[in-house]
Amino acid sequence: QAKRANAGFALFQGGLDQECAQHLTLMGDLRRAIDRNELLLYYQPKVEIASNRVCGTEALVRWRHPQHGMLPPDEFVRLAENTGLITPLTLWVLDTALGQRYAWHEEGDERPISVNLSAHDLRDPRLLERIQGSFATWGAKPHWIEFELTESALMEDPVASMQTLSALKELDAHLTIDDFGTGYSSLAYLQKLPVDSLKIDQSFVTRMTSNDGSAKIVRSIIELAHNLDLTVVAEGVEDQLTLNQLGQFGCDIVQGYRISQPIPAEQFRDWEVRSTW
Ligand code: C2E
Ligand code: CA
Ligand code: CA
Ligand code: CA
Repeated sequence: QAKRANAGFALFQGGLDQECAQHLTLMGDLRRAIDRNELLLYYQPKVEIASNRVCGTEALVRWRHPQHGMLPPDEFVRLAENTGLITPLTLWVLDTALGQRYAWHEEGDERPISVNLSAHDLRDPRLLERIQGSFATWGAKPHWIEFELTESALMEDPVASMQTLSALKELDAHLTIDDFGTGYSSLAYLQKLPVDSLKIDQSFVTRMTSNDGSAKIVRSIIELAHNLDLTVVAEGVEDQLTLNQLGQFGCDIVQGYRISQPIPAEQFRDWEVRSTW
C-alpha cells in the first residue's frame, strides 16, 4: 500500500516536506485544471478477436500541466481520490466522453466508450443521479458508455459496491471488472455481481509468453469468465505472440500497444484507416 501511494511522488524530487508542499500545490492546480481546460482524454482502441475489428475505446485522462507538462493519471488520480476531487474529475471525464460519443454517434459510429470509475465513486450516493443527469444532457443511450471498476475498488466496500453496480445495471449500463486477478474477490461474490465482462490485469498478460504461471492464470480467467457467461478482455497486449496465444485461449477482446497506444480523439479516424494490426 505504502509503495503504491509512493508511486504518486515519482514526479517530484526532494525531501518529504517538499513533496507534501508540492502535492498541496498540485491539488490546488487540479481544482483549477478542470475549469481551465487542462485535462484531456485519450482513447485506446479495443479489438474483438473474432471479427478483427475495433469494437470500442477506453477513455484515459491526461493532464496538460502548465509547469510539469503532460501528467499520466497515476500521478494525480490517487491524489484526487484522497482529497475529494475525484467526483468532479469523474464527472468531467464522463461528460467529455459523452460529448465525444455524441460526435461519433453523429458520424454513424455506435461503438461504446469505456469510462473508469474509482473506489470513491462507488461510495458516493449522488453519483448515480449525476450520471443520469449527464446522460440526459447529451440525449445518450445506455449503450453509449461502458463503466470499468477495478476489482480492488469493488473489494474495498463489497456491500456498497454491489448496490451501486445494481443501480448502474438498472440504467442498462454495461459493466466491466477492471484489473481482474489482483483484487482477491471470492468466487461467490463474483458470481453475484451484475457485471458483463472481466478485464484481465495487464501484469498477467504482459508476462504470459515468458512465464508459464502467468499463462495459466490468463487461461483460467478466460475459462472462469466464459463459465460465468462473461465477456473477457485482455489489456496490456504488447506483441503478436501474446495476441496469438490469447486467440488460442479463446479471449474475446484485446487492448494494448500491439493494437494502439491511447490516442487523442482527433487522431482516431486516421489511425483506424491506416492501422494494419
Ligand atoms: P487502467 O484503467 O488499467 O488503464 C490501462 C493503463 O495501461 C493505461 O495507462 C494505458 O495507457 C496503459 N496501457 C495500455 N496498453 C498498454 C500496453 O500494451 N502495455 C502497457 N505497459 N501499458 C498499457 P494510463 O492511461 O496511464 O492510466 C493508468 C491508470 O489510471 C488506469 O489504469 C486507471 O486506473 C487510471 N485512470 C485513467 N484514466 C482514468 C479516469 O478517467 N478515471 C479514473 N478514476 N481513473 C483513471
Ligand atoms: Ca480501465
Ligand atoms: Ca486495467
Ligand atoms: Ca491498472
